[in-house]
Amino acid sequence: MHSEKIAHLRVFMIESPIKMKRLQGVGNVMGTVKRVLVELTSTSGVTGWGEAAPWEVFTGTSEAAFAAIDTYLRPLVIGAPVRNIRQLTITMDRAIVGHGEAKLAIETAMFDILGKLSGLSVADLLGGRVRDEIPLSFSIADPDFDADLARMQAMVPEGNRIFKVKTGVKPHAVEMRNLEAIRNAFGDGIDLRLDYNQALQPFGAINILREVDRFKPTFIEQPVPRDCLTAMASFADALDTPILADESCFNARDLMEIIRLNAADAISVKLMKAGGLLKAQALMAIADAAHIPGYGGTLWEGGVALAAGTQFIAATPGMSLGCEFYMPHHVLTEDVLEERIPNRGGAVIVPTGPGLGITVTDTSLRGNARILASA
Ligand SMILES: [Mg+2]
Repeated sequence: MHSEKIAHLRVFMIESPIKMKRLQGVGNVMGTVKRVLVELTSTSGVTGWGEAAPWEVFTGTSEAAFAAIDTYLRPLVIGAPVRNIRQLTITMDRAIVGHGEAKLAIETAMFDILGKLSGLSVADLLGGRVRDEIPLSFSIADPDFDADLARMQAMVPEGNRIFKVKTGVKPHAVEMRNLEAIRNAFGDGIDLRLDYNQALQPFGAINILREVDRFKPTFIEQPVPRDCLTAMASFADALDTPILADESCFNARDLMEIIRLNAADAISVKLMKAGGLLKAQALMAIADAAHIPGYGGTLWEGGVALAAGTQFIAATPGMSLGCEFYMPHHVLTEDVLEERIPNRGGAVIVPTGPGLGITVTDTSLRGNARILASA
């Protein structure tokens, strides 16, 4: 293993249909989502997979991630020693600015190979698992609220407890009625969370937040645009309900500013925002020092990216607010994994196999996704 290097890189831009329309406040998604998959092969023939799943209104584009990997990162990755993952992340950061999703995809595939070579899971390589399952949060974002209510009626008896309502999308009065309907149907037996995806303006937002606060959300996520940190701080101060920063917190620098201003009580950590597993763990080290818990967010990620997220959360104690890793089970009509990561009793079960603990083959890839480009 000591002399093992990366010998080959294949990159695919794929497109997958989704089952339901999603109203997110920004970037409403209908029909299909695009993402990028990377397969690295080591000199002894061990393969590892990684995924870049940018969302154009949030982090970037799949086309840019594909070009970054194919044109700019490929020469750095070929010949890179499999054991020197951190050195490769430094080299990638020096070679190209931004493109965190592309760098994450490479880093994930490297960890997958190192895990397979050593017989250890990625969580083991990140310090060892501190949890075997992660509570699953499902997002209520269907334009047809009755369809979401019916989904909840089916999911709650299966053990699902955490539901995050995308708010700031419909008129406030309609959203108040919907929240009331949820509490009436499920009482305090569910963990209700709200996510505004930056939809409100600081002017007048507190009145809206005070009104939704009576439904006792566990947290209110990103009520205002990402750079409105002083407004976030004022809400965190005025409300007993915690404020969670998502779009306001991409990286360690963002988090340090949030802590300086007391702008949030919790953060959403997405590997696509952090741009790497090691960077996400470094972010959570800062959060831990400030006693800020983390929530496992996702973009339109498929099974490879969510496997990486699952391994990260399994090995990172501060990621205690659950995860929203429901895409392959509930939203994507198909996924590229041979076998999906199991969801049971309202939790994602952390795979135990080496590397990411998943299997991707050419058959599972080509059978379950439309390949738009490959190189
Ligand atoms: Mg969010």
